[in-house]
Amino acid sequence: MTTSQQWCLKARPFGEPTNDTWEFKQTELPELKEGQILIKVEYISLDPAMRGWLNDAKSYIEPVQIGEVMRAGTVGKVIKSQHKSFSEGDYVAGYNGVQSYAVSDGTGLHKVDPSLAPLPYYLGVLGMPGMTGYFGLLKTGEPKAGETVVVSGAAGAVGGLVGQIARIKGCRVVGIAGGKEKCKFLIDELGFDAAIDYKNESVKDALKQTCPKGVDVFFDNVGGDILDDVLTQINVKARIVICGAISQYNNTTPVKGPSNYLSLLVNRARMEGIVVFDNIKEYPVAMKDIATWIKSGELKVKDHVVEGLETFPETLMMLFKGENFGKLILKVGE
Ligand code: NAP
Repeated sequence: MTTSQQWCLKARPFGEPTNDTWEFKQTELPELKEGQILIKVEYISLDPAMRGWLNDAKSYIEPVQIGEVMRAGTVGKVIKSQHKSFSEGDYVAGYNGVQSYAVSDGTGLHKVDPSLAPLPYYLGVLGMPGMTGYFGLLKTGEPKAGETVVVSGAAGAVGGLVGQIARIKGCRVVGIAGGKEKCKFLIDELGFDAAIDYKNESVKDALKQTCPKGVDVFFDNVGGDILDDVLTQINVKARIVICGAISQYNNTTPVKGPSNYLSLLVNRARMEGIVVFDNIKEYPVAMKDIATWIKSGELKVKDHVVEGLETFPETLMMLFKGENFGKLILKVGE
């Protein structure tokens, strides 16, 4: 018998998740049946979207139900197999939840190779956030060389990749992030042309300075006031990619919509939402491009790994406090 340590949803939060949101359980897993595998989960992806999955509301995916193991992307090792497509020792990525061991019938799993990339990369730059940035920018943002691309949440998992791809495509890149250290990193390490510290300067004024030719593409991870500020600086035929709105996810009041939306009319601009899973068939193309850029040194990767399954509730909250610096990942440990 294997005991899995699990974080389950105890009660739906109103506003920020608290200790009352979660229950830590130790569950004896059943013996494997034909067609099943036992996975030792090694890394768990912590994503802002997890907050949305706690709401009992219509979305692009079903909410997590009360009592269920919290949904999360994971990478782990197959330690027992009764499945013809998976063998002991295989590493697999999939949505196996915030737990130390998982039984799976293989649905939604794909094998990953730890000799090609460190395992956390498969949850970040070569995983869901990487696919989001790649397709959101290239398919929906449609950047052209010489254009100005602005990205919010720029020092995060999706934002850091978006800015670097825009730079590789020959664009002027301006990132918006919280704090001096993150802004310095964007310019010195990721090669952004400029960075705006939204916590310490006026975003509107800084956009005027850093985007003298206006904004052609805005990749928005944050929403709220930042979206409104960027809307005042867009060019004719600008593309606004609505990837996320993390500033709004824990609101106890209605989401703050953009009051400057008429700028879309004046500029014949387009604002379009994206959901990463729509591109699933094309993931291999993105993974190949991203892996090539990493290998050539054109693209840098920053992961923020926190150790200990027991820290899940507070580690998740780092995303909403800006305490993660790079892709946030929980390492399960022994
Ligand atoms: P992340 O950027 O690595 O981490 C979240 C960051 O958001 C924090 O580090 C913080 O950075 C910033 N933040 C938190 N609260 C904020 C606030 N009130 N105002 C401004 N910034 C705030 O997270 P990620 O995984 O890359 O996700 C980024 C966005 O993409 C999220 O909105 C997420 O929901 C979205 N997303 C969408 C899809 C899709 O399919 N549409 C897929 C994946 C992710 P600072 O220190 O700079 O404040």
